[in-house]
Amino acid sequence: MKKSLSFLPVLILLVCPFIVPAIYHADASPQLVDYIFCNGNIITIDETNPLVQAIAINDGLIVGLGSTDAILQNFVTENETTYDLNGRTIMPGIIDGHSHYMASLFWIGETETIYDSQTIALANGYTTLNEKSIDIGEFEWIQEAEQNGTLRLRVNAFLIYNFAWLEDNETVLVDAWEPDVIPVLDHDRKFRVPGFKIYLDGASGNRGFPAMSDPYTQEMVDLWGIINPYGDLYFNQSELNSVVDSLHDRGFSVAVHAMGDRATETILNAIEYALNGTDNDNARHQIEHNSFIREDQIAKALSLNTIHSVRGYFPTYWQQDYADLYSTVWLERTVNRYSLPGEGLHTYLETDFGFLHGYDEDDWSRSSNIRPFLHMWGLVTRKAIDENGTIHSPDPWLAKHEISVEQALRMMTIEGAYAVKQENYIGSLEVGKYADLIVIDDDPLTMGVDDLKDINVLLTMVYGKIEFLWQSHTFPTPYTSGTSRTTSALWIVLLTLSSLIVVRSRRRI
Ligand SMILES: [Zn+2]
Repeated sequence: MKKSLSFLPVLILLVCPFIVPAIYHADASPQLVDYIFCNGNIITIDETNPLVQAIAINDGLIVGLGSTDAILQNFVTENETTYDLNGRTIMPGIIDGHSHYMASLFWIGETETIYDSQTIALANGYTTLNEKSIDIGEFEWIQEAEQNGTLRLRVNAFLIYNFAWLEDNETVLVDAWEPDVIPVLDHDRKFRVPGFKIYLDGASGNRGFPAMSDPYTQEMVDLWGIINPYGDLYFNQSELNSVVDSLHDRGFSVAVHAMGDRATETILNAIEYALNGTDNDNARHQIEHNSFIREDQIAKALSLNTIHSVRGYFPTYWQQDYADLYSTVWLERTVNRYSLPGEGLHTYLETDFGFLHGYDEDDWSRSSNIRPFLHMWGLVTRKAIDENGTIHSPDPWLAKHEISVEQALRMMTIEGAYAVKQENYIGSLEVGKYADLIVIDDDPLTMGVDDLKDINVLLTMVYGKIEFLWQSHTFPTPYTSGTSRTTSALWIVLLTLSSLIVVRSRRRI
């Protein structure tokens, strides 16, 4: 009996180091918050505070970032919502700068409810979609979802201005919008309307072809059935000037589909005309695709501070076809898009994802695949997987203009936010910003780049709410030592005392 009691002072001495800080911090009572994630690798995309271990979230907002110790001292949760990341990575939620996700859901919407159908985007880590062409039916459907609380991620709608094809060589305007429609830029709303989408040139087939400053070769004309050898431009310069100027004056950003360099020329001129000497930092006009962009146009883009989309995934398995068909000049122009992030221009990721053209989750060859980390892999390695599963590496002409993982991360997060005037609210993890984040199962900054495409999303949080959780995965586990140093010290004292009681009571028997 005496022998067992003699352990007590020893045990008290052992727990003393825990008790002292607990007492010391007792008057600075920790703030009760909704969630804490600790013991992790948190990529903030905030240059002033790039990597932290722990994050505290309350009422939709990030309220604390720092070391695990600091966060656990200052914040506390109820209901076991302090999660142990066990070294896993958190990054801002993915922002797709050019998607057709919600629009395509509307057209297949009969089969699923809008709430459930957003799960695929959430499971892939998207927290914001910048939808590049929303019609009136889609608009009302998304607006209704926002109003009845079933919109689970942020949607920035760019309203469709004209259709993506020509009739009798004329573009067809969309007249559904009220003439007094105005931008919706409230940051606390999930559904916002920052701009209009304008289709300026063709894409392929029945949409006509990208508008070029020099003609398609006879071989291409024959092969693809091209009618206009310079491609198809939907607005001439003066028409586009007046369209962009008018939307600019109404406070809309324009997002303009421009694939060929003649289209890029026309829209750069129109943006210059509308800006009239002011900076695009206020207007945020943006150019979609940039599939053939010239060096002189990059210089002009830099002077105007225009924003540009860049497709992540290039169909590298077709590189020999491109090399056979295109001149060296055209090859240079088509790969120039990948130089844009390195030039210091604002560039964001476009996946161009939509369900309408058939969706096969296992078809990793699609250049408009939904998987953001497949696009990241494409940006960083310029590799691609063909339909048979073979991985193709880029030839030197395509491998030029390498993009770093850091640049790709910015394109997928903060730059997508910048394009919709939300860089102070989402796109990075900073105190005061909305808690839009994902937990992933590897660290893109330290892992081998060839494995980037295989990163899995374990959890997706939008506006401080867990909207997706990989159910079969072991994550998340509650932080086992309790919710703060104070409670862990108390637990140690209680456990010690109870074990002594157990020992004593056993000895009595
Ligand atoms: Zn598109």
